[in-house]
Amino acid sequence: MIYKRSSELFAEAQKVIPGGVNSPVRAFKGVGGHPIFVKEAKGAYMYDEDGNKLIDYINSWGPLILGHAHKPVVDAVIEKAKKGTSFGTPTELETKIAELAVKMVPNIDQIRMVNSGTEACMSAVRLARGFTGKDKIIKFAGCYHGHSDSFLIQAGSGAMTFGTPNSPGVTQGTAKDTLLAQYNDLENVKELVEANKDDLACIILEPVAGNMGCIPPAEGFLEGLKKLCDENGILLVFDEVMTGFRLAAGGVQERAGVNADIVCFGKVIGGGLPVGAFAARNEIMNYLAPVGPVYQAGTLSGNPLAMAAGYAMLSELNENRNIFESIDKKTEYLHEGMEKVLKDNNIEFTINRLGSMISVHFGNEPVINFDSSSNSASLGTFNKFFHGMLENGIYIAPSAFETWFISDALSYEDLDKTIEVVDKVAKTL
Ligand SMILES: *Cc1c(COP(=O)(O)O)cnc(C)c1O
Repeated sequence: MIYKRSSELFAEAQKVIPGGVNSPVRAFKGVGGHPIFVKEAKGAYMYDEDGNKLIDYINSWGPLILGHAHKPVVDAVIEKAKKGTSFGTPTELETKIAELAVKMVPNIDQIRMVNSGTEACMSAVRLARGFTGKDKIIKFAGCYHGHSDSFLIQAGSGAMTFGTPNSPGVTQGTAKDTLLAQYNDLENVKELVEANKDDLACIILEPVAGNMGCIPPAEGFLEGLKKLCDENGILLVFDEVMTGFRLAAGGVQERAGVNADIVCFGKVIGGGLPVGAFAARNEIMNYLAPVGPVYQAGTLSGNPLAMAAGYAMLSELNENRNIFESIDKKTEYLHEGMEKVLKDNNIEFTINRLGSMISVHFGNEPVINFDSSSNSASLGTFNKFFHGMLENGIYIAPSAFETWFISDALSYEDLDKTIEVVDKVAKTL
C-alpha cells in the first residue's frame, strides 16, 4: 500500500501539533511507522488520504458500534445543526436521552452528561468523595479511566503502550490518594481495604477490562468487590465507558448481574460525538450541584448535536436489542477463525474475548491482569502482526494493549477476509 499523502500530512502536523496527534496512541509510536490520515468512512470501511480502503476494527476506539456514518445518527446531527449548535440552556432532548439511558441501564435513577469519558470518571470520583466524605480511591493496574490526575497511576491504554503508566505532572499529594490493586485479585483488594477502610471513598474499575487488551473479570470478582464495598461503606464505581451500551443495553451491570453505585459512560453514548456521562441512584446524584454541594459543570455539556447523535444511537440499540447478540456472534466467529489459523501456523497466542470485545496476545500464558498482559506482550511479534494486517487492508489498534472494537457494520465476508489475512500474516511472524 502507498502512504505518501499520509506521510506528508503527518510531517506537516508534527510542526504544529505535539507528535502530530491530538491523542497519543494515534501516533503509531507503539508499533512504529506513521499514522494513516483518514479522509472519510462509511459502514465497516475507512478510506485514507492515499485512497486505500481499510476494514476498520477500531471504530473510533469504540463509539461506532453500528459502523461509520450510520444514517440515523448523521441525519439527526444535520437536522439539529440547522436549528442552532449550542444554547447554554436546557433542551428537551437532554431529558429524552436521560430517560432512555435510565430505562436501558439497570440500577440508575439519574444521569449527568459531560463531554468525555475522562470527565465522567473524574466527576464520578469527586461525587464518591463528596458523598462518603472520604479521600482515597482504589484503582487497578492496567485499567484506564481517562487522563485526569488521580487515574494516571499504572494506567492502561496509551500510558501502557508507551511504557509511561505514571505521568510527570501528577503531584505526590494526588498520587497518594490513589491506591493500586491487581485486577482479578480479590485477596489483594481485601488487604488494601482492611488497611485503609476508614479513608476509602470508592473502588473504580473497568468491569470488563479493555485497556490492557481485553481481560474479563474472574468468576466472583465483581460480586466480591460489591460485597466488600457494601460491608465497608465504600462506593463501587463501574467505568463502563467502553462496555456501556456495547456488552448489553445495560452494560456489564446487566450482563454480569452485579450492580455498581456509580456508573460512567462515554464512547457509544455519544454516537461518535464527544459525550460522557455518569449515573447513580437518587440518593447519590442528589449530592451534585445544583441540588447538592459537589460541584460539576460544563459549557457544552448536553450539547444539542452531541445529544442528537447519542439519542439516535441509543434509540436504535434500544429498539433493536438483537444488535448485541449479532455483534457477539460476529466476534465469536472472528475468534474461532483466528484461533484456527494461528494454531495451524504454530503461533504462540492467547485470545481473550467477552461479547464484542476481543484481543490477541502473542504469548501462551493466560492474560488476567496488568503483569500477565505486559509479560505476554511479545511486542516485536505484535508490531509485525499489526503492520502485516495494515498492509493487507485491515486496521486494528496500533497497540498490543487495546481491545478490537467490533461494529455491526462488519459483514461475514469482511470477517472471512480478515481471517484470511491473519493466516497470511501469521506465516510471516
Ligand atoms: C476511553 C476510556 C476512557 C476515557 O474516555 P475519553 O472519552 O477518551 O476521555 C475512560 N475509561 C475507559 C474504560 C475508556 O475505555
